[in-house]
Amino acid sequence: MENNNKSIHEFDLNLICEYFLGLKRQGPGSPEVTVKALSFIEGLSKNSSILDIGCGTGGQTIIVAQNAPGKIIGVDLFPAFVEKFNENAKVLGLQERVEGVVGSMDDLPFNDEEFDVIWCEGAIYNIGFQRGLMEWRRFLKKGGYIAATEASWFTEERPEEIEKFWKDAYPGIDTIANKVNQMQKAGYVPVAVFTLPENCWIDNFYVPQTALQEDFLKKHSGNQAAERFVAYQRYEAELYYKYKKYYGYAFYIGRKI
Ligand code: SAH
Repeated sequence: MENNNKSIHEFDLNLICEYFLGLKRQGPGSPEVTVKALSFIEGLSKNSSILDIGCGTGGQTIIVAQNAPGKIIGVDLFPAFVEKFNENAKVLGLQERVEGVVGSMDDLPFNDEEFDVIWCEGAIYNIGFQRGLMEWRRFLKKGGYIAATEASWFTEERPEEIEKFWKDAYPGIDTIANKVNQMQKAGYVPVAVFTLPENCWIDNFYVPQTALQEDFLKKHSGNQAAERFVAYQRYEAELYYKYKKYYGYAFYIGRKI
């Protein structure tokens, strides 16, 4: 199964973008989980500023906007995602408070202490958890919050097949205890951590991809890169069903000291 071992980072970005544009969410998550994470954040008002990094098409940003006051900026590397993000905000009449901009998480165009909250669902792995926490800290006001989901091991020991997959896909995956420690070391008080339930991966992420994959393959019939990409997504899903008790996402909420 040599095709399945290709890391997502090696695929054509345009293809990846097109594929994920067809989904409501580009990563595991749910409205309930976003609201739960928000419940740990205190003191927001209509003057608050929230930054959602790696916002994608804005599935979680909209939930934040509907459940918290203040302005929200979403930032994502891919212009097509940001375009859809702004369309989605407009459809819901949120365009006065919610704005998507194109930018990279390793070179953010913001000022020190500009934000009350930094949000990041399913995206911090692109820079690495600890690095993201450390580099983004300066954008937060003192006492401001960071809330990020991150791939985490749920157990001390894991079967070799799943260890190997993650070593290749994202070697930064670690146990929850170690991630909390990283958060503390990066200059935050760990406020809360909780694991995301399986429906965030299955019902909201992998199931919606199944129908889309058929259409995508038809559209790109004969395109080997597209076929390999779908094979990789299917392999990733298969591994999740098989090994979900060993890993998943956890939501980490911290407060800048
Ligand atoms: N938060 C969304 C999307 C998660 S997928 C959700 O939970 O549904 C990861 C997102 O990170 C993608 O939208 C991808 O385009 C974005 N991304 C990848 N590298 C990035 C970078 N360097 N800077 C900003 N965004 C990036």
